Amino acid sequence: METMDFYLNDVWSKTLQVFKERCPQLDEGIFDQYIKATRLLSLSDSNAEVLCPRYIHVTILEKDMQTLEFALETVIGQHLHIVIKQEWELLEEKKKNEENSAFANRFIKVDFSEKYTFTNFIVGRSNVQAQIASLTCATNPGLVYNPLFIYGNSGLGKTHLLLAIGNKLRELYPNKQIAYISGPDFVEGVYHSSKEHMIEEFKQSFHNLDVLLVDDIQFIGGKDKTHEVFFSVFNDLVNNRKQICITADRTPSQIKGLEERIISRFNQGLNVNIEAPEYETSVNILKMKISNTMGNHQTIHDDVISYIAINFSKDVRQLEGALTRLLFYSINFAADKDEITLDTAIAAFQDSGYTGSTGKGITIDQIKKVICDYYGLTASQLVSKTRTQNIANARHIAMFLCRKMMDASYKDIGNAFGNRDHSTVINACEKVEKRIKSEDVYRQVIRDLEAKIK
Ligand code: ADP
Ligand code: MG
Repeated sequence: METMDFYLNDVWSKTLQVFKERCPQLDEGIFDQYIKATRLLSLSDSNAEVLCPRYIHVTILEKDMQTLEFALETVIGQHLHIVIKQEWELLEEKKKNEENSAFANRFIKVDFSEKYTFTNFIVGRSNVQAQIASLTCATNPGLVYNPLFIYGNSGLGKTHLLLAIGNKLRELYPNKQIAYISGPDFVEGVYHSSKEHMIEEFKQSFHNLDVLLVDDIQFIGGKDKTHEVFFSVFNDLVNNRKQICITADRTPSQIKGLEERIISRFNQGLNVNIEAPEYETSVNILKMKISNTMGNHQTIHDDVISYIAINFSKDVRQLEGALTRLLFYSINFAADKDEITLDTAIAAFQDSGYTGSTGKGITIDQIKKVICDYYGLTASQLVSKTRTQNIANARHIAMFLCRKMMDASYKDIGNAFGNRDHSTVINACEKVEKRIKSEDVYRQVIRDLEAKIK
């Protein structure tokens, strides 16, 4: 039995003793059978709740209510109003409370996925700010950045970071109440609770939280009632120094139809951006995913990783999709299932009509392959440091065609050609352009190569 129950039982048995002494006319049998069966449920500043199992107990107590209240006052030293509760009323209340929390649980998730953590989140220039801010919120909730607002395009790791915050908090503060809700679920929650006249219950379900994680808040834009409810939930939590972390696919001011007062509250915290992964981050993400998914007997060549990182790094979801496609292809169609080579990779994406971030269906490696075949070079010679004239010439043309046909960035091209600086790529492209203008044969060669690549 809890300490509080002991206390209440003790208060009540003393109260009944005083009551009995004050009512000499009271029949001993009635006292033992009925009055003793009552129980003190709770004490507040003004009321004392007393449980009467059945209606007959109510009628007996009500007759001498004043004496009972006096008896209680004698024991606890304070006058309280006694409120009688019957068993069925308690059951109804319990049912209603359960319904309310079941109602809120339809929208608020307290048991979110444990899969997303800081440990399996690869950090690079593109996401380091968001990662540090998230880790700070997870270790010092409510104290530093409140709210934390993470924005960036789809597939860049916003939900991953949000849930990593939740999982880290659970590990560090097992007693804190943490919940996750998505923007669409919040909108839906407001809609249903309005319809069922349960808006207050919906709001109340956030009140006891220590940390609220809101994903994809942009969906609440343009919905007045939702704004009102969100604003009230937000203020209630932040004013009580409870942490709120929010994600969106754009900045607060760019969310269409978001009330000015909400934008300004968001801007009071910290806004951080996540960008598309740069080459090194893409490679590290791929390496981690490969080690998590591939069997030990399989190996994947570094140039394959580089190929995917260059061609499918618009966002991390695209990287993951490309890797899945490659593994699927290599297991089912490649001649050598244990070793994934660049040829396998090229075939995997060609067959599927899969296009990378260039959107033109041409990849850097396809260009490299055509140039190597044409000049009789190996792939490693093409990207080597050799300045031998025909190799350097082939390399310059390959770089120029990557720029012209794929619109690839100088930086990505540099990375794909032996990690060269972007200024080296610019020089190469300028050299080729100059020769195209002045040399007819050279111009023809470039045209042939372009046709082959296409
Ligand atoms: P968003 O919410 O921004 O649309 P997600 O968080 O859903 O993106 O990320 C998409 C996928 O990419 C998820 O599987 C996620 O685990 C993975 N991901 C994103 N960024 C990283 C990263 N830096 N390291 C490891 N995995 C990542
Ligand atoms: Mg997301």
